Amino acid sequence: MSAFQKETVLSVRHWTDSLFSFTATRDPGFRFQNGQFAMIGLEVGGKPLMRAYSMASANHEEALEFFSIKVQDGPLTSRLQKIREGDIILVGRKATGTLITGNLIPGRRLLLLSTGTGLAPFASLIKDPDVYENCETIVLAHGCRQVSELAYGEHLVEDLRNHEFFGPLIRDKLVYYPTVTREPFRNRGRITDLIASNQLFEDIGQASLDIETDRIMLCGSPAMLEELHAMFAARGFVEGNHSQPGHFVIEKAFVER
Ligand SMILES: Cc1cc2nc3c(=O)[nH]c(=O)nc-3n(C[C@H](O)[C@H](O)[C@H](O)COP(=O)(O)OP(=O)(O)OC[C@H]3O[C@@H](n4cnc5c(N)ncnc54)[C@H](O)[C@@H]3O)c2cc1C
Repeated sequence: MSAFQKETVLSVRHWTDSLFSFTATRDPGFRFQNGQFAMIGLEVGGKPLMRAYSMASANHEEALEFFSIKVQDGPLTSRLQKIREGDIILVGRKATGTLITGNLIPGRRLLLLSTGTGLAPFASLIKDPDVYENCETIVLAHGCRQVSELAYGEHLVEDLRNHEFFGPLIRDKLVYYPTVTREPFRNRGRITDLIASNQLFEDIGQASLDIETDRIMLCGSPAMLEELHAMFAARGFVEGNHSQPGHFVIEKAFVER
């Protein structure tokens, strides 16, 4: 049995020159936990060309969804950005990753902090009924350079607000906090600075960061992760993993090559 399953692209949506999302069929045997990633890719020259991708769909959904960057000279995404409905993609059979609720000590407020395509695993997690069951509040922060780059997240949250089952949960429990660094917008600045200055909590009208109540998931650029890791560690927060749950967990949104 091949390590990769062939799946059919069902839909593609381009959000900006550098971002797109797509859905694909899902093998019924492909199991994952919300927040995890798998290897996905294309067959190029008779060989699989694979990269890590977070599932943006939840594990109860029939189709798979991914939210992707377009790197113009990127080996995979220079090709992947051209996919159309009916094309075949490869999806690895094994899902993995640290952004799962089991890696966190139970808490009352869950902070999901992301930049760029780091939103993807949280798109999955905010569609998980257990997350709402186990937390009083979920804060989804998404930082981008330009307002247009927020579109996928804005659309996702809007869809959930109008969803028959999730609508009431979202209205009561989910706080969506998009922020932009390079253009005027209602929230401005880097997530790192907005947390360090307490501005984020003032903006959403909630209590400051508190190790007793807050549990955190981080997914973004290597620089964002390094800064926030240092900030949380300095405040006594302990990083969790599969063997030892902690106050926060981290996943890279991409690696610098
Ligand atoms: C755990 C994990 C999960 C990931 N999940 C996603 C995901 O859900 N969506 C997604 O688009 N990518 C994701 N990535 C990145 C992905 O694996 C590829 O790097 C990306 O698809 C580009 O592939 P490429 O072959 O075109 O270029 P690569 O050769 O892989 O990358 C070239 C360069 O592009 C930049 N780059 C790559 N990916 C990104 C990105 N997402 N955002 C900003 N800059 C980037 C980096 O500087 C990198 O050095 C993830 C990576 C990891 C490690």
